[in-house]
This record gives sequence, C-alpha cells and structure tokens, in this order.
Amino acid sequence: MGMLEEMPLSLDPEDVIAEFEAMTRDAGRVQIETLKKILEENGRTEYLQRWGLDGRTDPESYKSCVPLVTHEDLEPYINRIVDGDDSSILTGNPITTISLSSGTTRGMPKFVPFNDELMESTMQIYKTSYSFRNREFPIGNGKCLQLIYGSRQFKTKGGLAAGTATTNVYRNPLFKRTMKAMHSPCCSPEEVIFGPDFHQSLYCHLLCGLIQREEVQVISSTFAHSIVFAFRTFEQDWEELCTDIREGVLSSRISVPSVRTAMSKLLKPNPELADLIHNKCQGLSNWYGLIPELFPNTRYIYGIMTGSMEPYLKKLRHYAGELPLLSADYGSSEGWIGVNVNPKLPPEMATFAVLPNIGYFEFIPLRQSLDGLEAKPVGLAEVKAGEEYEVIVTSFAGLYRYRLGDVVKVKGFHNSTPELQFICRRNLLLTINIDKNTEKDLQLAVEAAAKVLAENRLEVVDFTSRIDSSTEPGHYVIFWEISGEASDEVLEECCNCLDKSFLDAGYLSSRKVKAIGALELRIVKRGTFHKILDHYVGLGAAVSQFKTPRCVGPTNNKVLQILCNNVVKSYSSTAF
Ligand code: AMP
Repeated sequence: MGMLEEMPLSLDPEDVIAEFEAMTRDAGRVQIETLKKILEENGRTEYLQRWGLDGRTDPESYKSCVPLVTHEDLEPYINRIVDGDDSSILTGNPITTISLSSGTTRGMPKFVPFNDELMESTMQIYKTSYSFRNREFPIGNGKCLQLIYGSRQFKTKGGLAAGTATTNVYRNPLFKRTMKAMHSPCCSPEEVIFGPDFHQSLYCHLLCGLIQREEVQVISSTFAHSIVFAFRTFEQDWEELCTDIREGVLSSRISVPSVRTAMSKLLKPNPELADLIHNKCQGLSNWYGLIPELFPNTRYIYGIMTGSMEPYLKKLRHYAGELPLLSADYGSSEGWIGVNVNPKLPPEMATFAVLPNIGYFEFIPLRQSLDGLEAKPVGLAEVKAGEEYEVIVTSFAGLYRYRLGDVVKVKGFHNSTPELQFICRRNLLLTINIDKNTEKDLQLAVEAAAKVLAENRLEVVDFTSRIDSSTEPGHYVIFWEISGEASDEVLEECCNCLDKSFLDAGYLSSRKVKAIGALELRIVKRGTFHKILDHYVGLGAAVSQFKTPRCVGPTNNKVLQILCNNVVKSYSSTAF
C-alpha cells in the first residue's frame, strides 16, 4: 500500500456544503461546462467521431448529432472493450475496469465501464450527503455496521477487472479513506466484506457489530434490503452468535480460512456481553426495536430506501424502533445522479438534488405530447416542478445520451438544480393487452392487500409477479412469501384485494369483459426468496446491490422454476 493511500483525507462538511451550494446556484451553466469537459476529453473516440461532432462541445450540436441510446445499442462497443480492445472506443483514456450492473429485470447482468472519474463522483456524492446528514445528525468517532459485500471479481477475456459497481468502489483505497473521514469506518475487517460466501460474511458482520456494540453509530448498506435481510438472519442465528461471544470461538459454520483468521483477532471470550445480548433478545416483543437494543449508540439507519426498497420499510421500522431512517442517494452502476440533502425527510418523501458537475443530464417529459410521439428531452435547467421524466445520462465513463430507464418526478429545486423523487423503472411490468402496470402499481396493490394480512398479524416477506399467457385469456400471477400461516379465507380476501387494487383503466376494463383472466395469488414456502437471492449471487450479482425482480420474464427459467417448485397454495380471484 502506498503512502498516499494511508494519508488521512480531510473533509470539512461546511466546505463541502459551500461548494455544493455554489455549484447548484448556477446549475445550468455548470451543466454546459460539464458537457464541454466530457466532450473535450472524449471527442476523439470512435463512438463520438461516428456522429460527426467535429470538435463541437455545445449542447445544441451535441443533441442534434448524438442519438439517444439504450444499453443494447452500446453493447457492441462495450463488448469490444471487455474483450481487450484498448483503442479509444468510448473514452479517451482506456477503460481498465468493468462493472456488472444487477440486471435484475433481464435475469442477466449487464456490463458497463467503470473508471477513476466514476470513483471520484461516487466519493463526491458520499461526502455531500454526509455533510448534510451531519448537520442534522452529527456523529463523532465511532464505527459503522456496514452490511456490505464484495461480489466475485474476475478478469474478462480481454484481461479487464470486472465486478459489480459496489465491489469496484469498496475495493478502491479511496473508499476506506473517505469512510474514515466520515467517521464511519466499517466494523468488519476486509476479509469479511470480501469473503467468498456472503452467508458467512453476514454472520461475521453481525458478530463484529455485536463485539463493538457500544461504538456502532450507524447501521448502513447500499440498499435497505440488505439491512432487513441481516436482521431477519439475526432472528435465526442469535443464540449461535451469543455462544460464539461467550466462548470466544467462532462457529464452525464459518469455513473460509481468511475469514476465520481475521475474526479470531477480534473474538475473545466475553460471557458478560453474551448474557447481556441474550437477555436483551429475550426481553423483546416480536423483535420490535431490535437495532437500538443491540446497538445502543446508533444515531440512524442509512441506505437506499426508495423505489423497489419501499416494501421493506415496514420491517425496517419495526427493527429500528424510534431510530430515524435516512434514505441514501440516487445512482446506478452507470453513474450517480443526485444526493439526498434533506436527510430529515422520511424515506417516502426523499428527494435527490442533481449534482450538476458529475454528468450531463437530460430529461424526457413523460406527459404525452399531442401527436402521441415521445416528447423531446429537455435540459436540467428546463425541467418543471410536478412533472415526470425519464432520465438520460451522459457520463465521464463513456455513456452518451444513455437512457437509464428510470422515471423521476421533479418535486422542487435546490437553488437551481432539480430535486428528484424516484418513481419507478420506466418499463412496464405487467401488461397483457391494453393494461399498463409498472413496478409501482404492483407495489401499491401488494401494499393494499397486505393490510388484510396485517390484521392477522402476518406480513409479506417478499413478492414478485409474472404474466401467465398459457391460459386463455392470460392473467396476472402474484407470488407471495408470508411470515406465517394464514387461513384460506384470509388469503382469498388478499387475492381479491390484489385484483381490485390495480387501478389502471386498461386493466379494469379488460377484467370486466374478461379479456384478462382472474388474478392468481400463489403462496410460496418460507425461504423461497432467499433461494432467488442465492441464485443471483451465484450468477455474480452483489448482495449489496440486490433488488428482488418484481416481475419474472418468460425467459428467466431458473427463477420461474424456483418459484413454481415452492408454491404451497394458490388462489384465484373472484373479484370480477
Ligand atoms: P444497479 O443496476 O445496481 O446499478 O441499480 C441501479 C438502479 O437502482 C437505478 O437505475 C434505479 O432504478 C435504482 N436505484 C438506485 N438508487 C435509487 C434510489 N435512491 N431510489 C430508488 N431507486 C434507486
């Protein structure tokens, strides 16, 4: 490790905020400069030359020459990079690292370029949101129980390092230095974060946190799913964890030698601590308030809690008791977009202020234009409050006018930069004929039907859906994993409620005339969604970035098979 990597990083939150304020006051101008910088650095690449920019760097020329693209359009270029072609294809400086984005929807990970600029903007996002967070919830010297996991890293055919974006970030020396500067060093040694088996890593994360329980100030992960998953696991494993602490010997289930060695340095027999934790667990009612009981000095819980993470909020609140839940920033493997500068807002209301210097952003208005054609994208300075848009990114890492596929709503402005609320992925999840339902529509329907379960003290652990077109007419199938036994009567009511809760006019009218068949609710065995997670991790996905696929496509055979093999009961709606 070089000297530089050991050097403490200075971080004055007020300086970071001042810089952010200055930049957002003039967001439109910063955007023009950012585009200029991106095009100056990369104008000579094969990709941009193809579109005949001829050295021009202004937004008008850029937008008239370079087309909007999806990942699919760029795949031939990215694949050549992956295969080792180091000519200037997409970026002026050669790409040496590739990120695998989760690709939950397609069931197949996608490759995207990763570079130093992306790493730097990641740290800029982290520092900016930390600075705002620290104003409201200051933390001192302490630790952070970071439920993070490196995924498998490998070399591509062309010799490039490949891993998920989060893994590329965690592995970068700048990450550790920034975490230290943010008073949030991870409780666990690196061997645990990068362990080859995430179940073992999770167990050790919990153990490391418990051993250092007084020092823990923050519980975090990239996406909230990992936090909920960790404490669900704790409910299963707590006695074994207590035994390890009592005896100072790591459970034999941890079989990875490097992890065992690293853990043995931390673990000493501590019967008092084991008793304390044991008593605390026994004193809880249905695990309510587990987190503050285990970690009494926790100030807040931090992670992405919006979008597809919203369904886990209820459980997270249950574990968190009175502790505040702070929703983290908005970005993707392709690049970051916005930062949460209002940490006090509850996750349901979280917005993300776009950082105008980390990329050039455009927004396609979703309101149908009169001719029915897709509206033209507008710039960052032209968006309107209250409107919904699809996000287009131009990055320092080789993506030009790239459709991210996310729908956002402009809630307001921070100075002159928009504050975005994440709405959902743009693609439709459920559609048979004229019906149109997105991930958000499904989430709302599940939420409504889960109320029926809640009356019976049960919850939906996780859910997904599919279109079944083997019947005539086709129909929606919703899969639920629930926390216990429910009567047929209750589940029939849930099934009807689901069917009635899709409010889309196309669905309603199709159901009424039976152009769409009765919705089916299928209950799967406990642990089914755990198997789905394991399946994706086996494909190289990162637990840290995991998002349950909310709809399983017809080609996603393996996941369909897991679901279908685990169905215990199924119900057909009688709502229409
Ligand atoms: P990945 O493929 O793992 O890079 O995930 C990127 C996607 O995760 C984004 O395109 C969004 O759909 C989603 N995402 C990222 N950040 C947030 C956020 N703060 N709120 C909601 N969804 C998010």
